[in-house]
Amino acid sequence: MRTPLIAGNWKLFKTLEEVLAFAADIKSRAADVVGTEILVCPSFVYIKTLADALSGTNIQVGSQNVYWEDSGAFTGEVSAPMLSSVGASHAIIGHSERRQYFHETDETVNRRLFAALKGGLVPIVCVGETLAQREAGSTFAVVEAQLRDGLKGIDAGLAAKAVIAYEPVWAIGTGKTATPETAQEVHGFIRTTLGGLFGKDTASKIRILYGGSVKGDNIDALMAQVDIDGALVGGASLEPASFERIIRFKR
Ligand code: PEP
Repeated sequence: MRTPLIAGNWKLFKTLEEVLAFAADIKSRAADVVGTEILVCPSFVYIKTLADALSGTNIQVGSQNVYWEDSGAFTGEVSAPMLSSVGASHAIIGHSERRQYFHETDETVNRRLFAALKGGLVPIVCVGETLAQREAGSTFAVVEAQLRDGLKGIDAGLAAKAVIAYEPVWAIGTGKTATPETAQEVHGFIRTTLGGLFGKDTASKIRILYGGSVKGDNIDALMAQVDIDGALVGGASLEPASFERIIRFKR
């Protein structure tokens, strides 16, 4: 009932040549994949070119961030109307690298979320605990606060359009994946929390992606979990062959 979403986050990787080579290759690899939404999120500068290269295929293009104002004197920022106008369909918001290196807070996540929804972009809101927080036993408290404050003021109708990505910080880029059971435990908690915020019906519609060292050899077990509706993939989304294996997950 929830269409799986596999999203690639390319972070600060790839030249224009590499972006175009990936597009040419993945198009044919993904052509017969049905029933799963496929998304790649390159650097802002490639969104238009990549969206054009993938136009008419089953692969969508998203951004890795979005600013909360539509326009104005905000040097260096990129807004939701700008992103929509160049072909972006989704925006990643509050990725842990942005929280860690660029002072992202739940409040700025919330402002970006409103802007994305207003601009017609599907927001992918990232939450997740650090290793220290997990070891201190505060995983649920951290994730609950990120959801409550990040999604503050959103009504159920809009919330149903959002996607949540659970990305334990200790699993991102480390090769350490959460076990399917550990991930499911938090995904189940996220769905219950969303139910408390927006009602059970809405919560049952919101897709919750897992992110953190997802690879071809762990995607099937992760996707077998009842509350895992897809994946946000960093490293393994950079090569067409490894990304193809992930979009072809078996449940
Ligand atoms: C990410 O970038 O969101 C991510 C999960 O990265 P990786 O798959 O490389 O751990």
